[in-house]
Amino acid sequence: MSSIRDYIRDLRVIDGHEHLATRQMREKDRTDLFGLLHYLDSDMITAGMPRGILSKQSGLNIEQKAAVFQKYWESSRNTTYARMFRTAMEDLYGMKDWSLKGLLDLNEKVASASLDKDWYRKVMTEKSRIDLAFTLIQTTKVDFEMFRPIMFLDFTFKLRTLKDIQAVERASEHHVNSLQHYLTAVDALLNKYVNEGMVATKLGHAYWRTLACEKPTFHEAELVFNRLMACSLEEGLSQAETRPLQDYLIHFIIQRSTAYKLPIQIHTGHHETSVSGNGNIITNSKVSSLLPLLLEYSRTKFVLLHCGFPYSHEYLTIAKNFPNVYTDFTWVYIMSPTAAKHILHQMIEMVPQSKIHGFGGDYNFIEGTYAHLKLAKKIVGDVLMEKVEDGALDESEAIDFAKAVFRNNLIDFYGLDEKPV
Ligand SMILES: [Zn+2]
Repeated sequence: MSSIRDYIRDLRVIDGHEHLATRQMREKDRTDLFGLLHYLDSDMITAGMPRGILSKQSGLNIEQKAAVFQKYWESSRNTTYARMFRTAMEDLYGMKDWSLKGLLDLNEKVASASLDKDWYRKVMTEKSRIDLAFTLIQTTKVDFEMFRPIMFLDFTFKLRTLKDIQAVERASEHHVNSLQHYLTAVDALLNKYVNEGMVATKLGHAYWRTLACEKPTFHEAELVFNRLMACSLEEGLSQAETRPLQDYLIHFIIQRSTAYKLPIQIHTGHHETSVSGNGNIITNSKVSSLLPLLLEYSRTKFVLLHCGFPYSHEYLTIAKNFPNVYTDFTWVYIMSPTAAKHILHQMIEMVPQSKIHGFGGDYNFIEGTYAHLKLAKKIVGDVLMEKVEDGALDESEAIDFAKAVFRNNLIDFYGLDEKPV
C-alpha cells in the first residue's frame, strides 16, 4: 500500500492554476518576507490586523513589520494558511526560530532568494516536481519552460465608465465607437492572447457580482453601451444599470472562447479577503447560479474552480450530470484539508475521473505552491489509501487515478505537449 504514497510523492505534476509572477518580475520587485504573505495576510486581517499594514507602501520599517507579524502570527497560526507558510519557510529556508531576530534573518534569506536566478527551478521543478504551471498574472509574457498563461477577462465586461472601454481599446489596439466595434475589439484581444500561448480564459466575476447571468438582446446591451460612451471620463453608471451589458458580454466571451477551443475557468465559491472588493458576498458565488449558462453552452468546456466550496454538494451533482463541466481542486486543500478530503471522497464516488483536475496552488509565490502541493499530495494519498482499504478501488486503480488528476487529464484537456505518464 505504501506504493501509492511513493508513487504520488514521485509523480511530476501539471499545475492548473497559479498567480505566480515570473522570476524576472520577482527579481525586479526584490520581494522580501512580507511580500510572501498572500493567504496568511487574509487570516491576519480577519484576526484584526489593519489591512495593508505589512505591504510595501505601509511606511513601517522591517523591525516594525516583524513585530506586527509576530502579534498576528500568534492569533492565526492554527489555520492551514499559516501552516502552509510555516511549511514553506521551514522546508525551503530552514526556518526554526520564530522570534523577532529569527524573522529578520528569514527576511534576508527571502530577499536573496528573490535575486537567485536558479530559485524557481530549484523550488518548482526540483523540489515540487511541477513540470508546468498555468499562471494568471495578466500578461502572456511568461517563461514557457515553466508556465503557460491564462488571462482574466473580467476587464472586458466590467464596464462602468468610459475609461473601462478605453482600457480595452488600448489592449486590443482597436478604435471603438459602437458596441459592434467593441465586440470586434474583444475578439481581436482573444485572438491575440491565443496566438501568444494562452491556454484558457478565466472569469472571476463572482468577486464583484453574481454568477447568475440573464440573456439580454444586443439592443438592450447597446442602450447601456451608448450611455457609457456619452459619459465624461470620471462619470459612470451603477452596477445595476450596466448589468444588461455585462450579461451580454459574458455570453459573447463564452461564445468566442468556445470558437477558439479555449476552456473557461470560472471562480466559484469562497472569496479571498485580502483581494475581495465586494465585502465577501458568498452567495454571489453559488455554483447553481451558473446552470442556465451550463445548459445553453453544451459544447463549451467549463472548469469550475475551487470545488464550489462551501457549495460543494451542488457542485458535485452538477459535475456528475453535465458533460461540459470539469472539476478543479485549485485552492481547496489549503482552505480546509478536512473539507478537501470529504469532497475528494465524494468526488471519487460520483464523478468520472477524466473530469477531475487535482491541483492548482493558487499562490502568488512559489514557496506557497510548494507547501500547498505537499499537502495536496498527502491528502490525495490518504483518501486513495482509504478507498483501497474499503475495497472501493484496487491499488492499481488508485495509482491510475492519481496520475490522471495530477497530470494526464490536464495534458489532454489543455492540449499540452508534455508527456503523459
Ligand atoms: Zn486564482
